[in-house]
Order: sequence, then structure tokens, then C-alpha cells
Amino acid sequence: MTVIASPRGTQDILPASWPLWRHVLDRAAETAESSGYERIEIPTFEQTALFMHATGEHTDVAREMYTFEDRGGERLSLRPEGTASVFRAYFQHGMRVQPQPVKLYYMGPMFRYERPQAGRFREHHQFGCEAIGSEDALLDSSLIRLQRDFYRSCHLRPFTIQINSIGDTECRPAFLRTLVEYLRKHAGELCADCRQRIERNPLRVLDCKVESCQPILDAAPRAVNALCDGCRNHWNRLREGLEVLGIDAALNPRLVRGLDYYTRTVWEFVPEVGGSAQSTIGGGGRYDALAQAIGGSPTPGVGFSTGLERVLLNISDDFAAQLGRSAVDIFVAHLGLEAEVEALRLTGELLCAGCRVDMAFGNRSLKSQMKQADGRGARLVVVIGDNELALRSATIRDLRTGEQQTVVFENVTETATALLGGQRTSPASNDAP
Ligand SMILES: [Zn+2]
Ligand SMILES: [Zn+2]
Repeated sequence: MTVIASPRGTQDILPASWPLWRHVLDRAAETAESSGYERIEIPTFEQTALFMHATGEHTDVAREMYTFEDRGGERLSLRPEGTASVFRAYFQHGMRVQPQPVKLYYMGPMFRYERPQAGRFREHHQFGCEAIGSEDALLDSSLIRLQRDFYRSCHLRPFTIQINSIGDTECRPAFLRTLVEYLRKHAGELCADCRQRIERNPLRVLDCKVESCQPILDAAPRAVNALCDGCRNHWNRLREGLEVLGIDAALNPRLVRGLDYYTRTVWEFVPEVGGSAQSTIGGGGRYDALAQAIGGSPTPGVGFSTGLERVLLNISDDFAAQLGRSAVDIFVAHLGLEAEVEALRLTGELLCAGCRVDMAFGNRSLKSQMKQADGRGARLVVVIGDNELALRSATIRDLRTGEQQTVVFENVTETATALLGGQRTSPASNDAP
């Protein structure tokens, strides 16, 4: 009989990679909170209708959702992204009465049924920030800054920022007509995917990566050249904001993002080396039409999300190498059943003194216990053997210097903490049991 394997497209995050994950999760929370974003936790599943209304039924997101009927007959879906849920929560909890914009961030697993490949999982993790309730273009600039700062604090390899404006409900229809007309004229030179998309989702045609389509799509009409006055002002103000922040963002007229609810600003972070839209690290944009799509009153919003697996893939190797696994200060080894009880008591005492402590369990050779101590990164090993037990004392060995000394039980904690000196973790309160 073999152990049942994890489902395709899922992954275990093992202890060896956890320090890197923790680094990224900590930086995400810090960066968001330092700019005034507060944490929101949203459910892992929602009513299917929420996502259908938000993303449209014919999008990749809708097609790739994990949807099921629960025992009560409700249609539910595992969340494919976070934005729709955050908007739902905004309305459901009456956040409209708070000062606007309401700034929220989330982190957690998202689910998409797609073909697993490098860096793409059916269960993957996202960090996202949403600012709801303001049309201000400078808010868009500040979110691009926030996302850049997050990547910098994660020590990512060099990346570039691409921006575009795809207009709004006022100017986009006319632009789409011009675009469709152009694409129809060149349909014969486009790939099969592009030809299919011309009528269904013309904006997404611009996203095509097929080599032979590139010259046609590069020469296609540009949304930024077809903006109405409102969108034009918004676009100019966005770029003014980026300029004062010293952010270099290049116009990519073919940048449209994958979801239908985007309006006006869209942006993406792309690795400098080997960069293409397939390797986008993360992106965001404005979605002034989303609130109404899910049944809310007209409410503008802007935000970004970034897949954390992608972030991890883009962290510089030098930085990743210097993150060590979690370690303990002290490892308590013992020989004999009675010594193990004493080791357990001593471990508790050392923990109360603020040390990070682990001990061996079961009846094992001293050699294998020493090996385990080394593996846990311990600086000190406290050994309680038969002789020591009789004398109510323990041997403390400093693994860095190789020096060791024998001290009575009462003095172990004091001696150990003195040896660890300043590099010990901060002491726990003294009145702990
Ligand atoms: Zn194509
Ligand atoms: Zn417009």
C-alpha cells in the first residue's frame, strides 16, 4: 500500500523553504501596514454568482473556477482571486461610511483549475491591496509605489514597470469598435486564438504572445490615444504622481490585464531578464465598474495582487541563500529514562528564561542526539548522562568553541543564558510558570 499523494497542482511548503515564505509574508504585511492598509480575511469560498458577476462568465477565471454544489444545494466556488470578495465585504459591512478610500490588504490561497506548470499552481498564494472609494489617480500611483516597495523589500531581481490606460465606459466602446475593425482587416495574418477573440474579447487579442501576431498587434490602435477627457486627465495625473515618486514606468499600449472589470489604469511588474507577460510578477489596476457588477452602488476602486510563488521565483539567489532555517539556541540531550525526565524539566526552565530550546525524545545514542542538535542549529548542547544525574549536574557544551563545563542543575539556566549572551532571543517574562 502506498500513501495517497497530494492533488495535482498543489504543493507542500516544507521547512527548508519556510524562511523564504515567512520573509515574503512579513514584508507584505509590513509594507501594506506602513502605508495605512489594514488586514482583511475573506472566506476561502463564496457564492459562485459573486465571481461570475465580477469577472464575467466567459473569462478564463470563470472557466477555471472550482465550483461545486454543497449539501444544501448552494452553488459555491473556491475563490479564484481576492478583489471581488473584498468589494463584497466593503458593502456588506457598511464601510462606505468610513473615510474614503478604505484601504485593505489580504493574503492567502487562491484556486484555479489550470494545467500545472512551473510557477503555476491550482492552489497558489496571493498578496493583494485594495483601495476602495476614491477615483483619485494619485492613489493609483501610490499603489504602484507600494507594490514596488514590497518587491524591493523582498530582494527581487531587477524588474520593470509597465502601465497603460484602457479607458472607461465612456470612451472604451468607441475604441473597441476601432480595434475590432482593425483586427478584422488583419484577421488573415493573426493566429487562430486571436481570430476567435476578435468578436468575443477584442482587448485580450492584444495580449497574444504568438510571434507572427506581434507586428500586427504592435501597430494596432492604442487605447491611450482614444481616451475621453476624464480618462485623459486621470492618465496625466497618474503619470504626474509617478514622476514625483521617482518611479520609472513605461507605457505598454498592449497591456490589458486578464480580467474584464478593469477600467482606466492597468499596470504590471515584469522581470528585466527574460521578461514577458507570461512571467509577470504581479500587476494591478483600477476597477471603477466592479462595484456595480456585483450589485453595489457606483464605487471606484484600485488595487493590485501578486502571486507569492512568482515573488519567490524572482528573489535573488544571493539573498535566498542567506536565509537560514529556524534554529534553536539549546538542545538538551540525555541518556536513560530518568535523565529524560530531568531533560524535560530543564527544557521548561530554559524556555521560561527566554531561550529557544529543543530536546531529544526516546532512548537514543548520544551520537545521534548530537547530530540532531547540529541539524537544529543549536549553539549549546546540555547533556544529562547517568553520572551527571547521580551528581544532579549536567554538561554544557558550546558547539562553536568546543568548550564544555559541568554545572549543577540549579545553575544550568544561568550558565547557559550567560554563554548565549546577547544573541539569545528576548527573555520571556519572569513570572511565567
Ligand atoms: Zn495571436
Ligand atoms: Zn474615458
